[in-house]
Amino acid sequence: IHESALAVLDRLCAVIPDYPEEGIVFRDLTPVFADGAGFRTVVEALIEPFRGGFDVVAGVEARGFLLAAAAAYASGTGVVAVRKAGKLPRETFSQDYALEYGSATLEIHKNDLAPGTRVLLLDDVLATGGTLAAAHALFERAGTQVTGIGVVLELDGLPGRERLSAAGVDPESVHV
Ligand code: AMP
Repeated sequence: IHESALAVLDRLCAVIPDYPEEGIVFRDLTPVFADGAGFRTVVEALIEPFRGGFDVVAGVEARGFLLAAAAAYASGTGVVAVRKAGKLPRETFSQDYALEYGSATLEIHKNDLAPGTRVLLLDDVLATGGTLAAAHALFERAGTQVTGIGVVLELDGLPGRERLSAAGVDPESVHV
C-alpha cells in the first residue's frame, strides 16, 4: 500500500522557524526530494490535476527545476527553466517582481516555445504569489498559454492564491 502525498509531506517536510529571517517559517522540501518513493508520490500528485492539459512543464529556479524536470519526464513532455536574471545566453523576456525587501527578476528565452504552447508552471511553495505571477507574465508575453499552475505547498494566510487567480489561473496545491 502506498503512502499518500499528504502523508509523505507531513512526515518529511522540514519546518524551520525564523529562516532565512525572523518571522518566516521556512518549509524545506529537500527531505521529500531525497526520498525515492516520497518524491515520486508527490510529483505524481502534483501533475495529476493537469493530465493531458499541457505541452511543456516550466519550473522556477531553483527548487522548481527539480519538480519540473521530474514532472516533464513522467509526462513525456519537455521542460523549460524560468531563470534568475543574467543566466540565459540568448535573447530573453525579463520580468521584475517585488520581494519583501527589494526586487528580483525572472527570465525565459525568447523563441524556445511556439506561440500557443500550453505550459504547466510549477514551484515548490506558494507564498505571496509574486514569483509565480512573474513567471506567468513571462509566458503570456511569449505568446504561450499557462494552462496550469501547481505547487507542492500553499502557505495559509498569504495572498498567493488570490493573486494568481486574478492573473487568470487558479493554482492547484498538493498540500495547504
Ligand atoms: P512568493 O513569491 O512569495 O510566493 O514566494 C515563493 C518563492 O519563495 C518560492 O520559490 C519558494 O520556494 C520561496 N518561499 C517563500 N516563502 C517560503 C517559505 N515559507 N518556505 C519555503 N519557501 C518559501
